[in-house]
Amino acid sequence: MDTMSVRKTLGRFASGVTVVTTARGTTGEVHGMTANAFTSVSLDPPLVLISVSTSAKMDRRIEETGRYGISVLSGEQKPLSLHFAGAAHEPDLVDFVWRDDLPLLDGALAHLTCSVRASYPAGDHTLHIGEIDGLWHRDGDPLVFFSGELRSLVSSR
Ligand code: FAD
Ligand code: NAD
Repeated sequence: MDTMSVRKTLGRFASGVTVVTTARGTTGEVHGMTANAFTSVSLDPPLVLISVSTSAKMDRRIEETGRYGISVLSGEQKPLSLHFAGAAHEPDLVDFVWRDDLPLLDGALAHLTCSVRASYPAGDHTLHIGEIDGLWHRDGDPLVFFSGELRSLVSSR
């Protein structure tokens, strides 16, 4: 199947944007990666899923650490989504806060800390199922990925 058609069609499904993070211990190297393939899976136990390319450094890092953090980006954090996708260089904007021994992006709409319960190979990606250890959220407007574009969704409230 033509991959461009797959991307164009799947791109019609609007999603939020996250930055997945992990660290080798509390003093070890931190790594982050932009991901829109994030979804809720189960409430009891509370599980989420991320789909990470086998060619991404993040896939190996999660295998090593067994834990990951999710920062759900706000509408103002487009530069960070580009930075953690390797599409822009904005190191001065990167500010981590630590929760449950995991780094998370300051200013995000939501933070989750997760422990990997299962990882399944799926084509050129790996599905990492995480059990939620901790979660935090604030009000605000999200960053949205739709048709290959990153947009700020401003509510009409
Ligand atoms: P790298 O490419 O080496 O790192 C990513 C970037 O983050 C680099 O610029 C690096 O400098 C920076 N960075 C990493 N750690 C730090 C740190 N500690 N401090 C400061 N900067 C740091 N890929 C998927 O596999 N799954 C998805 O769901 C997914 N969704 C995406 C959604 C969108 C909207 C976009 C734009 C891309 C998405 N990607 C996804 C692609 C993925 O973000 C890129 O391929 C990414 O470059 C892969 O990261 P990597 O782990 O290989 O690390
Ligand atoms: P795009 O416009 O191609 O995205 C459209 C749709 O295709 C989205 O649903 C996206 O999740 C999906 N998609 C894109 N690349 C994919 C991949 N390699 N594996 C699985 N699904 C994929 O996205 P773009 O703005 O051209 O993205 C910029 C870069 O980020 C590209 O290199 C793209 O491959 C990568 N990206 C990867 C993923 C992923 O691995 N899940 C998701 C989004 C973007």
